[in-house]
Amino acid sequence: MKDLNSVTNSPMEGEGEYTRRDFLTHAGKGILAATVLSGIASCTADAQQGGSKSPTDKDIHANSVTEPIELKPLEDKTEKPQEPLPAPLEPGKRVGFALVGLGNLTLAELLPAFSNCQYAKVAALVSGNPDKAKKVARQYGVPEKSIYSYQNFDTIKNNPDVQVVYIVLPNSMHEEYTIRSAKAGKHVLCEKPMSTNSQSAQRMIEACEQAGKKLMIAYRIQYEPNNKKAKEWTRNEKMGKVRVIDATNTQNQGDPGQWRLKKALAGGGSLPDIGIYCLNTIRYLLGEEPIQVTGTVFSTPNDPRFKEVEETVLFQLQFPSGVLAHCTTSYGVHNSKWYRCYADKGGYFGLDPAFAYHGLQMDGSQVQDEMEVKLKSSVGEKNQFALEIDHMAQCVLQNKKPFTPGEEGLQDHIIMEAIYESAKTGKPVKLKKIDKQDAFRGTPPEEVKLA
Ligand code: NAD
Repeated sequence: MKDLNSVTNSPMEGEGEYTRRDFLTHAGKGILAATVLSGIASCTADAQQGGSKSPTDKDIHANSVTEPIELKPLEDKTEKPQEPLPAPLEPGKRVGFALVGLGNLTLAELLPAFSNCQYAKVAALVSGNPDKAKKVARQYGVPEKSIYSYQNFDTIKNNPDVQVVYIVLPNSMHEEYTIRSAKAGKHVLCEKPMSTNSQSAQRMIEACEQAGKKLMIAYRIQYEPNNKKAKEWTRNEKMGKVRVIDATNTQNQGDPGQWRLKKALAGGGSLPDIGIYCLNTIRYLLGEEPIQVTGTVFSTPNDPRFKEVEETVLFQLQFPSGVLAHCTTSYGVHNSKWYRCYADKGGYFGLDPAFAYHGLQMDGSQVQDEMEVKLKSSVGEKNQFALEIDHMAQCVLQNKKPFTPGEEGLQDHIIMEAIYESAKTGKPVKLKKIDKQDAFRGTPPEEVKLA
């Protein structure tokens, strides 16, 4: 474990000189504070240097006092083996996240998910509503001094507890808060869709590159175990080569006054909000990028919800290997979230539901010994949000590029723009051929795992 003097010589990037006194003042006095903080310093301060001084896996393990605990299994060996017990880092060594925007996703899913995280903790809140922010801060143990408004957000640069800003705002605000966070010397985890258009997404990537900060887009599906299994089956041709994929993500949208139905705030309607799950997941399953798209857009005339953004989009994707995908997304029909991959050796598989927050299930069928064997199972539920947040934390601790970086979000914007273009012109739109597999992805989660 490093001593505090070594920290004095390693100021955090973008945060000015970070001294021994700062550490002690910040965390209270005494040996306990010094011990905890030397852990944070060795795990994160070096990682933020952007390369040469990032801690190795060995350093991280040397700093981790949380040895995994083993218990005797309760069930016989014939049963599915018990998962290893969680071995979370001490809170003082975890990566601190500031959540910007205390709306539905933050309150219902993200803040509760931190209790399942092993490497991340909630360190600050950013909100336009001080009363709500204070209440939430009390609920999750965030000190009042770590509550920010949109106006004083930039002073977060002086808060050493925060390494990552998680942006959970309406889509049109993602760019502004990414740029402000990078300038404040913080890494960024940004909700999907990355922004409202590809030029804006490009600016977000450049801002983080210039500041030497990581940028990850919160594509939770790419960290979820059942979807990961479907990706493995696609790529290792478990039921033969996948030739065709069908995907649907629909929900009946309510209140016409909400920001999701305002073009300036949302960028578009069902396509960038929920259709993006079909698009991004199919790209993830195949590891390929489409070379051609077609799109059809329809909105019910005089429906007050669809004055500015579209209701329904049907789109098709053609991949270099010959795989064809057909996707349906709509804000005007009942909730349905699934996909199915049709393979050429007598089987199909997919998930239903596939894109929900909880209860995901593998769904499939295969011919075996002249019988059609139906599959309805799950590899086990894990909190998708916790997995995604922990991946970002692990990337910070180990100075790795996130699996779903800004480039992954930009590519979805480029493809969605081509889908809208096709719907407008009534013609297929060709896209640049990209030969590399997983061309826009960073380090796979399993290669960043600490435990
Ligand atoms: P929400 O409307 O519930 O919350 C938005 C928050 O932004 C609120 O706290 C609101 O006060 C604040 N805000 C600040 N300025 C605003 C403005 N000008 N207009 C409206 N709100 C403003 O939205 P949400 O459902 O939490 O979605 C936030 C982001 O998260 C969006 O980008 C959305 O696409 C994304 N999201 C992702 C998932 C997922 O599964 N990954 C799920 C839901 C939402």
